[in-house]
Formats: sequence, C-alpha cells, structure tokens
Amino acid sequence: MESNKNNYVLLIHGGVGTIIKENMTATKEAAYLETLKMALLAGENVLKNAGKATNAVEAAIKVMEDSPLFNAGRGAVFTHEGKNEMDASVMDGNTLDAGAVAGVTQIKNPISVALQVMQHSNHIILIGEGAERFAKQQGCELANPSYFYDEDRFQQLKMAQLHNEVILDHSGESAYQEGNIENEGKKFGTVGAVALDTHRNLAAATSTGGMTNKQFGRVGDTPIIGAGTYAHNKTCAVSCTGHGEYFIKNVVAYDISALMEYKQTTIQEAAEYVIHEKLKQQKGEGGLIALDQKGSYTMAFNTKGMYRGVVSKNHSPKVDIYK
Ligand code: ASP
Repeated sequence: MESNKNNYVLLIHGGVGTIIKENMTATKEAAYLETLKMALLAGENVLKNAGKATNAVEAAIKVMEDSPLFNAGRGAVFTHEGKNEMDASVMDGNTLDAGAVAGVTQIKNPISVALQVMQHSNHIILIGEGAERFAKQQGCELANPSYFYDEDRFQQLKMAQLHNEVILDHSGESAYQEGNIENEGKKFGTVGAVALDTHRNLAAATSTGGMTNKQFGRVGDTPIIGAGTYAHNKTCAVSCTGHGEYFIKNVVAYDISALMEYKQTTIQEAAEYVIHEKLKQQKGEGGLIALDQKGSYTMAFNTKGMYRGVVSKNHSPKVDIYK
C-alpha cells in the first residue's frame, strides 16, 4: 500500500502464459526486463511531473507497443490470413470516459488512437477502417503492414495452422519450439498499464494483437470496456491479459470493480476470487493488474508467469516475469 499524499503509482503487464525460466535465454530475459523497465520509466516521467494517469498509461504502453517482444503494436501476432489486427482501449477513472479501437491494421500505436477516440470523438469504440480514418484526421502515426512483420511470429502462425489451433502468444520465440503445444502454445502477450496520478485520479489501458491464427474480424476483451479494461476512482483501475473470450464472458475488469463497490472487498480479495477461483474453475487462463486510489495494488495471474512491473513515488522500478 502506498497511501501518502502526492503519491503516484504505475503498474504494467506484458502478458501472461506458460512463461518458465527453463524456456528463456538469458539474453531474451534481459531484453524483456529492460523493456518493462523502460515502459515504467516512460510512465513515471509523466506522473512525477504531475501529469495525468491517462497520459502515463499511454506513455508506458507505447514503449511496449514499439517493441517486437510483446504482442501489441509492432510485435502483434498474425491472424489466420497472415495479417495483424490490433485492439486497444483506455479509461479515465475520474470521468468514466473511455476510448477504444478494434481490428486496426495500420496504426503504429493503437493506444494513442484509443486515447484520441476518448478525447476527440463522441464515441467509445471505433473499428477497422473507421478507426484508421479517424486516426489520420487526428494526425496519428500510421504504419505499413510490413512494419508489423516479424519472422518468428509468422512461423508461430504456420505452426498454429499446422496444429489447427488458435493460440495466444507473447514472445518472439516459437510457440512450438519444444514440440509441446500444451506448454509452449499458451502464451498471452497483451500489454497493459494502470496508474494513480498525483491528482488522485486512476486510469487503465490495454493493447494487443489478440491471438495467433485468430479468425478475421475476431475482437477480444482488450477493447471492451469492463472486460479487458476498466477504471473508476471510487474502486480501482484494472487491465487484463489472457484468453479474451473468458474475460468477456466474465466481464472481468468490471467484476473486480463491482466486488469492491458492492461487497466492499479489498482489491486483493477481488482479484484472488476472480482470477484464482472464478476463471480457474472455467479453465480461463489469464491475469490482471489492478490499483486503487489509496495505492493498494495486486498483480494476479493463474498461469506460470506474467511480465509485470511497478513503480511509485517511494519505490524505484521493480520488474518480474515468473511466479
Ligand atoms: N486478451 C487478449 C485477447 O484475447 C490476448 C492476450 O491477453 O494476450 O485478445
């Protein structure tokens, strides 16, 4: 808990999955930790200069979107047709305003367009071409489909197709490298951030490429307010990662908020129940980061690992991968 005045707190995640040390090279592990740290510092820079939580979560997520390591922006996974369709959303816990994009293929930083949707449109979700046209009008940076091409990810798609599976993968390494689909295929690489700023406002944001080999037009939980992302100053800010369909069915992000609002649970109790009981019973794999106005937070996941990090006014950046 980080409850002193003028405190700020930022949490990030870079996806969950069967992330185990034995399957990770030292170089790769270092690269992940370094990028997570850079993301924390980018967000912290906004917060320590009295910036808004919404801008801090955007700044942190942009760093991860620009890295090929994570399944968002540049590192987005491939659809069945070999394309990259991305989803992102952001929510302001003070105003309950939100913005999201879904199924975008040419936007360099989907999270920035989601923020523009929140700030400069009358809507909450824009999809595909409409979102891209809006992004252009707002002067957001577009990218050629080739910008999102990554050879390893493309091989993952080929393997997924060979096994006729839809998989969720965060990493550049082959999901099938050990020939063990059960263990290697289940990786979820969405990125997310939640922040408490010095004005005591909360915000949450999430960005993803979705699932490898997903069907054309499939939209996951990430851009669905209440499923993958939710923020309310009264309760908490939440960003989720995992098998999106389960997060939509269980309205996970809002469920955490509702447990706190109606049942007066703590943030830890709410996450414990939803991730370790409710989802687990349904075999819904995933995790979330959540933060309240007092600075209490949780990073809960029911998988082997979750890329994650935290920084606050009183604590320097701390990053982690495994359980
Ligand atoms: N939740 C994301 C989705 O289903 C995937 C992930 O978290 O990696 O689209």
